Amino acid sequence: MGPVSSTPDEPSNGGLLVRLFDLALALLALIVVIPAGLVALLLGARWRRTRALGERGRILLLSCFWMPAGRTGRVLERLAATSWPRLYDVVIGNLQLIGPEPGLPGEPPPSERPGLVGPWWFERNAAAASAPAGPERERRRPRRPLSDLKMIAAALFVRLVFGTARAASGETIHVQGLRIDNLDMDTTLQRLGEHAEKGDGSRNVVFINAHCANVAAHDASYRGACDAAEWVFADGSGMKIGARLAGEVLADNVNGTDLFPELCTELSQRGCSIYLLGARPEVVQGVVEYVEREHPGLVIAGHRDGYFTDEEEGQVVAGIAESGADVLLVAMGVPRQELWLHEHLPATGAKLGLAVGGLFDFYSGRLPRAPLFLRDLGLEWTYRLLQEPGRLWRRYLIGNVSFLWRSLRTDWRRTTR
Ligand code: UDP
Repeated sequence: MGPVSSTPDEPSNGGLLVRLFDLALALLALIVVIPAGLVALLLGARWRRTRALGERGRILLLSCFWMPAGRTGRVLERLAATSWPRLYDVVIGNLQLIGPEPGLPGEPPPSERPGLVGPWWFERNAAAASAPAGPERERRRPRRPLSDLKMIAAALFVRLVFGTARAASGETIHVQGLRIDNLDMDTTLQRLGEHAEKGDGSRNVVFINAHCANVAAHDASYRGACDAAEWVFADGSGMKIGARLAGEVLADNVNGTDLFPELCTELSQRGCSIYLLGARPEVVQGVVEYVEREHPGLVIAGHRDGYFTDEEEGQVVAGIAESGADVLLVAMGVPRQELWLHEHLPATGAKLGLAVGGLFDFYSGRLPRAPLFLRDLGLEWTYRLLQEPGRLWRRYLIGNVSFLWRSLRTDWRRTTR
């Protein structure tokens, strides 16, 4: 079976081979789905049909199950039962397996026979915080058996492992009991910049990744410091998965390391100064040099390393207060940096205190950051693990599994409560 639409502009409803392929797969799936569907009907699900638009404005009556209210309905919904009758639509030719999104009455119709899934489906269900507009709905894609199977398997995986996401999550969401400010990078920068320039009082900012969530599960004082922070951002792919399992969609991966250069620009434009506290002396010195080189407009009010004794604490706080810094970055590892900021930020007089973990190690050049493709894949942690296996194997290999386990357990409880 070759590509069906030879040119991107040529609409196609699939050739005979595509139709046979869809029919064979749908009938195969129905062997499992029919008995399960009968059980769903016995448990109170109802077969309904909704109007949709097919190619050239053809009116389609698409089938679905309506779920009974309550726990049974939630469990069936979690198993994607609402969509099971869609296989019948594939069999009778209302839908193809892969195609554009079915249209709604009153909208322009799709250019070819709509699909059960397609690129639009992933935008709706996996990544985007809001429902897709134009391009993904219609993106045409040649039908090829292998890539079709891959897409179906991926959709099944996303739907069965992660369930459905809300169309759009609010500005505040909860992941494993931690409050998260669900902002994108630009809004984050603007809010932090505004507060550093004109805000009243001292506000803490923490970044939560999967490791931090693990620490918070066992360390009440760290959790308390996070809850008390003004802004809590979700950092990394683990949190994206955790949020998705909590039925939410994260607006962005807001981590300190990506935020830092942009924050430097924002702060220098607003005439704010920073203080860098943490890491070994030569490392924090390296960050000072980075800022002087890349952001010459930003005033560094002061810096010092993060290895001091309890007796020296008063002197450290006084030093920051004397510097008059607007923004304090603390890199002393989780949970020490968050606890330290929670206790001392007001006395330093800085308006913003950010707990930034390994950030100084990256910008000083002590540790190279993972290549972009790994970061894009959500696999930066694998690179970190290879850099310092002795220190980090427990955090990542055991920690990631326990984070996932807790996320799945929370999801299951939410479904069956
Ligand atoms: N660090 C510090 N003081 C300490 C312990 C650690 O300044 O008492 C520094 C350490 O040198 C490193 C940074 O904290 O630059 C972050 O450490 P880690 O990578 O463990 O941070 P995490 O990933 O846990 O946030």
